[in-house]
Amino acid sequence: MVRLFVPPPRIDGGQATLVAEDAAYLGKVLRLSPGDAVEVFDGAGGVYDGRITALSPTGGELSLLSRREGGAVRRRPVLELWPGLPKGEKLEWIVQKAVELGVAGVVPLLCDRSVPRLDGARRVSRLARWRKVAAEAARQCGRADIPAIADPADIAALAERARAGLPVAILHVAPAPGLATWLAGRSSVERVAIATGPEGGFAPEELATLQKGGASLCSIGRRTLRAETAAVTACAIWALAAGELG
Ligand code: SAM
Repeated sequence: MVRLFVPPPRIDGGQATLVAEDAAYLGKVLRLSPGDAVEVFDGAGGVYDGRITALSPTGGELSLLSRREGGAVRRRPVLELWPGLPKGEKLEWIVQKAVELGVAGVVPLLCDRSVPRLDGARRVSRLARWRKVAAEAARQCGRADIPAIADPADIAALAERARAGLPVAILHVAPAPGLATWLAGRSSVERVAIATGPEGGFAPEELATLQKGGASLCSIGRRTLRAETAAVTACAIWALAAGELG
């Protein structure tokens, strides 16, 4: 079934309004036309059976049947992933895989050893891109919700969340309890966060700040994984523990 994300403001009275990009995707890429069926998801957990009623180069319209819940089973604990901002396009890859694996949200973590420096305009454009990747991954994998991709935050913000009671695992290349064991001890909490470092890892002061806030150091095995592999592996370990995989 063809799936399309239409945000709630563009859904009203049994109709969805399409923008030019949607119309190009349905008409030019998928070669659909009025009368064809499309499943719409609103990114907030709602799903609609829809039918194309109009398509033009500037937009279009779908008629929709009533909203139903997308059947997402919210596993506990839900996961917030805080990946240390890596070089290049790697965060796009992490976001895509994390959404497929079922995370509730991603907060790009600005670390001392993060190479990219996000100034105002670049920060806005990267964030828009990561959100688009998340919406696309949700569409592709059948999620009805789109995980929140937050504005990049720093170590102090994560330490503050830990101090406020959020269980936080910091993945670090050193002998430490395994992440699976750490998760098993938190199976009844609402939400956990897992932070992974950028290519150069966390600086000692960052580890100290996070640990002072109450975060726990964890390992995911004896090999040193690349930053992006570690972030996605952590999501997979959580997904297995939470019953999302396997
Ligand atoms: N030389 C760096 C160090 O020792 O921190 C290597 C960093 S590694 C390429 C990037 C990030 O992946 C690390 O900061 C950590 O968060 C995560 N990582 C990679 N392998 C890991 C492992 N076996 N256990 C826990 N975390 C790991």
